Amino acid sequence: MSPTHDTRDRGHNDDLLAFVRASPSPYHVVASAAQRLEKAGFAELRERDDWTAGAEGGRYVVRGGALLAWYVPPGAPAYTPFRIVGTHTDSPNLRVKPAPDTGSAGWRQIGVEIYGGVPLNTWLDRDLGVSGRLALRDGSTRLVRVDKPLLRVPQLAIHLDRTVNEGLALDRQRHMTPLWALGGPRPGALLARIADEAGADAADVLGWDLMLHDVQSPGYLGAEEEFIVAPRLDNQISVHAGVTALVAAAGSRRPPAQVPVLAAFDHEEVGSGSDSGAQGPFLERVLSRSVTARGGGPEDFERALAGALCVSSDMTHAVHPNYAERHDPDHRPLPNGGPVIKVNVNQRYATDGVGAAAFAAACERAGVPWQPFVSHNAMPCGTSIGPITAARLGVTTVDVGVAGLSMHSARELCGARDPELLARVLTEFVRGS
Ligand SMILES: [Zn+2]
Repeated sequence: MSPTHDTRDRGHNDDLLAFVRASPSPYHVVASAAQRLEKAGFAELRERDDWTAGAEGGRYVVRGGALLAWYVPPGAPAYTPFRIVGTHTDSPNLRVKPAPDTGSAGWRQIGVEIYGGVPLNTWLDRDLGVSGRLALRDGSTRLVRVDKPLLRVPQLAIHLDRTVNEGLALDRQRHMTPLWALGGPRPGALLARIADEAGADAADVLGWDLMLHDVQSPGYLGAEEEFIVAPRLDNQISVHAGVTALVAAAGSRRPPAQVPVLAAFDHEEVGSGSDSGAQGPFLERVLSRSVTARGGGPEDFERALAGALCVSSDMTHAVHPNYAERHDPDHRPLPNGGPVIKVNVNQRYATDGVGAAAFAAACERAGVPWQPFVSHNAMPCGTSIGPITAARLGVTTVDVGVAGLSMHSARELCGARDPELLARVLTEFVRGS
């Protein structure tokens, strides 16, 4: 049996799985990315600070669940064009309501909202932990992650629902409430528990952004372990690959010809309309300030944008063996075939011929295969931050991604070769040519 992924892939994948395991919420994704950037010598900038002192090298900025990072090669003029990798940090999940302590029929339960496009059945009968951030009275925030099995949304037994296999109907309000104890509702119980886990005094916690996650560890699957199974592969594969590419470009003996940028936005799964989402001004402002910090003016910024290219990297659909008719017969990506270039002429994806050619050329330089994707004409098409970023910045953008199955499920699947192939081509892409 020949192995389908070499030891280099395994190292990349093991790091990816550690990244996913450590990152159950967008805030944790940002922290995991920041940790890797810091290790590679990137310095954090705060939005309120003066950025004009020392503009070369690696920098990053955090806003809530979003992170922007870039690397200015030594001596690069202020008008040097950007090479942007756009991704997102959020994943569909269940999020804790403001007054969460509830219950029914002698059970203690937690009220949750549905975040994004969740296939609700995939959250049934899983062991769920809690993560997110607490906002304290003094204005600070604190990350919290409870990886123990704490909650469960139990499915109704088939004995009480004989028609379940003809189509499971789940009411978003009534049927998705997890249980975590007996004894009926106890106001404040969840917050007390979470604050305790975070080492905070519950009385100081005046706000929070908390969500649930499957505590089962990510891992490998398949006859030759040729697949990865994990939560949140959409879109942590891309964030992880983007960080890897930026760090590699910054550490290369051959400095990049352009300014590599990683944009990891929050709220993509709910339309990107927030201060940390792709529809907001975060990226544009930070890019503008990064030019100002190098002594550039408005004309330099316009030139840097005019020469820029953006790759929007997000999970995409591999052809499903049990539903192959839902895919276009001539565009059927498979796992481990390399990154997918996604096209939708109605601009659900931003790719045009020029962007596709730029990415394909980067694939060639990196020695990485790629696959084309377009939706079946009778099927709805997903979207990404690509069209939004293209429209906001006026930058040529190409939508790409790793092909997987079970997208948005509590546990997704992709090929074990693809994450490293994506990172390799992104490393080549952000260097510019
Ligand atoms: Zn996505």
